Amino acid sequence: MQFLPLISSATTRPGKLIVLTGPSGVGKGTLMQKLLAQHPQLYYSVSATTRSPRPGEIDGKSYYFITPNSFQELVAQGEFLEWAEFAGNYYGTPRAAVLQQIKLGRSVILEIELAGARQIKASYPDALSIFILPPSFLELENRIRARGQDSDEAITRRLNRAKEEIKAASEFDIQIVNDDFATTLNELETILKAISSFSEL
Ligand code: 5GP
Repeated sequence: MQFLPLISSATTRPGKLIVLTGPSGVGKGTLMQKLLAQHPQLYYSVSATTRSPRPGEIDGKSYYFITPNSFQELVAQGEFLEWAEFAGNYYGTPRAAVLQQIKLGRSVILEIELAGARQIKASYPDALSIFILPPSFLELENRIRARGQDSDEAITRRLNRAKEEIKAASEFDIQIVNDDFATTLNELETILKAISSFSEL
């Protein structure tokens, strides 16, 4: 006689959807990379974008780099969990992969801008939303300029957008000021460990 395993998909607790948002240049990307390196059980959702790749970015890993036409088609087909226009380009979270991972019990983290984070909050009220703030606007400007990745025009657009985004910080569950990188990372880890589904995986 063969015994069936006691765990079935019906008993798997869904993973948690976590949204990390905050203005461009605040350090979300670097924080994410560190978190993922230390917690490979977290699923990072790779977004699609119409922006051109920056040096060192890899298609399918950093982003799925797609044309504006393909992006519009995916929007029309309802393939995005959320999407937004940001600084002249489109960005979106592929729906299927995220929902599948959550169903399998894996927590998923999205690193997205304000409009998309608002959409997720509206559609998934159980999602945990974290807003990363810069220590000051001047510091944010210094960080964006120091990256040296964007044209002057793109920097101005990102800074204007950042001013608006910062005003929205209180809409989110948790706010963290990214002053010292190690301290911010610690705070994020403490929060993530407190999520039971995260620590069980
Ligand atoms: P960057 O061009 O610097 O890689 O990203 C610009 C902004 O778009 C960042 O704030 C980043 O978090 C956000 N972003 C990246 N992927 C997505 C996405 O799938 N959806 C939304 N709404 N924003 C995204």
